[in-house]
Amino acid sequence: MGLFGNRDSFIGSTTLTWEDNEKRNNVMWKAPRNIKFFDQVVVREDEMAVFYRDGKALAYIDRPDRYALTSLDAPIIGAVLKAIGGIKQPAEVFYIQKRVFDGKFGSKQPYVFRDNEFGIVNLRVFGEFRYKVSIPMNFINQFVGTLNCQTAMEVEERLKEQIVMLLYDVIGDLKNKGIGVADLASNLTNIEQVFLERSKSHYEQYGISIEKVSGLYITMPEEVQKAVDARSSMSILGTNYMQYQTGQAMREAAVNPSGGAAGAGVGVGAGFGMGYMMVDQMRQAGQQPAQAAAPAPAPAPSGVPCVKCGTAVPQGSKFCPACGTKQEQAACPKCGAGVAPGAKFCANCGERLGESTCPKCNAKLAAGSKFCPECGSPVG
Ligand SMILES: [Zn+2]
Ligand SMILES: [Zn+2]
Ligand SMILES: [Zn+2]
Repeated sequence: MGLFGNRDSFIGSTTLTWEDNEKRNNVMWKAPRNIKFFDQVVVREDEMAVFYRDGKALAYIDRPDRYALTSLDAPIIGAVLKAIGGIKQPAEVFYIQKRVFDGKFGSKQPYVFRDNEFGIVNLRVFGEFRYKVSIPMNFINQFVGTLNCQTAMEVEERLKEQIVMLLYDVIGDLKNKGIGVADLASNLTNIEQVFLERSKSHYEQYGISIEKVSGLYITMPEEVQKAVDARSSMSILGTNYMQYQTGQAMREAAVNPSGGAAGAGVGVGAGFGMGYMMVDQMRQAGQQPAQAAAPAPAPAPSGVPCVKCGTAVPQGSKFCPACGTKQEQAACPKCGAGVAPGAKFCANCGERLGESTCPKCNAKLAAGSKFCPECGSPVG
């Protein structure tokens, strides 16, 4: 001011440029000083410059050149000058890289998933994404203006949070469609696709375009993961998870009768546990002819229970795959299916098996007899 007036301004003029060593993996860079009337702005091919003041993006330049703010003739810079109000109110300049960036995201806060089968489960999501800035004005308005980011690192943090939030939305919608935590692992690609589709409209206001999301994985507490794994191996065997779980809780309670977490589990599952035990007893009864009052429940279609340990022995196999005990299987006289030794009824067709007695004279009848050998009465 004063004596040196204009000369001061001229000497103080600066060329704003984003040096390569500042650039690297930074999507955004804030020029360290406000731009003034005599300054020049260098915009290179791979970048854009956004002029910003009072919480708002004013204008941007995305064509490479060296711009002097004094060259009022240039149409682009003229618009910028008009927007930033010339000299009196200097504006900030944010540079943005045009290229695609790769990033990794991961939950900081878990997603609380209320699963019908496993109860409340805290989920976390992790993965990779590619993005680029598609609308520079929106980008600066949201990340700088609204979210108050000043560095590329802050922008990235916010962007990752946004990605996690949108993924949580997608997971929530799947949950509302009846998908449980045990189904998530088989739906990862589906989740990625829905996310990518939805990200188009979601990130437009942030001036971002998500090019790709990949490597998505979802974690849950270890004990839930174990139960999910146990359940999926059990559904292959055709066992009900709830029966397994309550059986497990009963065993834990037996070991630790003082209660605690296991005790609480029994309280909830006791009804199921009782049912399970009854089924178990009925199954055992079916294998013990002396107590059998009704046809034994049909064994799993894969085989006949082992005479010693009860493991399903595949049809035609002579030895138990679990304990190695030799199986002396009889064939049902009616349908030919293998039957467990001592079984009273064929599990396949319900035919009465083994020794029976004549209803008239009480004489012993051979299996499959049509007439009593003693009195000649028709039987069966
Ligand atoms: Zn066996
Ligand atoms: Zn039969
Ligand atoms: Zn008879």
